[in-house]
Amino acid sequence: MADDAFADPTAYGFETRAIRAGQPHDPTSGAVTVPISLATTFVQDEVGRHRGYEYSRTGNPTRTALEACFASLEGGAHGRAFASGMAAEDAVLRSLRPGDHLVLGDDAYGGTYRLISRVIAPMGVEWSAVDLTDLGALEAALRPETRFVWAETPTNPLLTVVDIAAVAEAAHAVGARLVVDNTFATPYLQNPLAHGADVVVHSTTKYAGGHSDVVGGMVVTDDDELAEAVAFVQNAVGAVPGPFDCYLTLRGLKTLAVRMERHMANARAVVDLLVDHPKVVEVLWPGLPGHPGHEVAARQMRGFGGMVSFRVAGGREAATRVAASTRVFQLAESLGAVESLIEHPGVMTHASAAGSPLEVPDDLVRLSVGIETTDDLVADLARALDLL
Ligand code: PLP
Repeated sequence: MADDAFADPTAYGFETRAIRAGQPHDPTSGAVTVPISLATTFVQDEVGRHRGYEYSRTGNPTRTALEACFASLEGGAHGRAFASGMAAEDAVLRSLRPGDHLVLGDDAYGGTYRLISRVIAPMGVEWSAVDLTDLGALEAALRPETRFVWAETPTNPLLTVVDIAAVAEAAHAVGARLVVDNTFATPYLQNPLAHGADVVVHSTTKYAGGHSDVVGGMVVTDDDELAEAVAFVQNAVGAVPGPFDCYLTLRGLKTLAVRMERHMANARAVVDLLVDHPKVVEVLWPGLPGHPGHEVAARQMRGFGGMVSFRVAGGREAATRVAASTRVFQLAESLGAVESLIEHPGVMTHASAAGSPLEVPDDLVRLSVGIETTDDLVADLARALDLL
């Protein structure tokens, strides 16, 4: 976007950029919010000379605003919005060719595993699942044909923390690019490009949108060549978000910073309950000093996030009972919105990874801690655990 002073991270802070970057005043009315541009086509001044937009799959003003704002928040040059997080991931993965190899972190989101193993691999791409906290294992898995290392940090649902700078260095040593799924951390808490990653992907359905009312995805990169390839797929395949979806996501971004602060404060209160509870075997939250990724998280994140997982004494049956017994925490998939959600990953979000190296423990419960009244959340969970 030309002359977008508010997109400059050296000039403006995160909250200001979230509210202003990529969002010029409407030249006709001066409206302070970006209009929802519903037009599918745009008039041309002469044959072949248009004003930046010709057809809405190729480019749309509301989408441009979202892309520019998000790229600024991630500190990247190029942002490309998609109809879902999976469509964003797919657009990056489509640059792979038969014979190429990919390394996937071994507790990635189940949908990422499904996309790679059942859509991308049958097209001739080889892949390996690796524990990315083990640099020796990563180095052993890297090959001359490795094009991408695909990491999440913190991971879904085990909250494992991957050292972005160390993994980027190992990937770059063999000429591979590091892709980081930054959905859990959000650009408010972590900017992977600043630590050496080449590409950031997001499910904007989660914290970015923040209100469980819009599905979307985003790719951000500084790499001009990859950005062009992703933009090509965006237009050629057409998995684009509608203008209203872009507007909702952009609106979500404006309050991301304040929401994240509250998500984190509530997560800490919930963790305090869980660590002392006799029915809880293990609490997984990077903010705990005993968490194996705590130091790396403290180095590369600005806070520890609002996602908390825990293992319950009594195995799968007890875990499903807890997940079904809360009232304020609602039993549902997804995460990152204002309302608190509880789920059993083994049966729900990560069922597609059953029997694979990415299978999750069946005594695991995942919480997306929302921004409700802190005491209500703590009392709700305590009640559900006491029923065991
Ligand atoms: N990445 C992560 C970490 C996710 O949790 C999800 C969805 O849960 C996705 C990607 C996929 O995003 P979407 O559901 O928007 O397609």
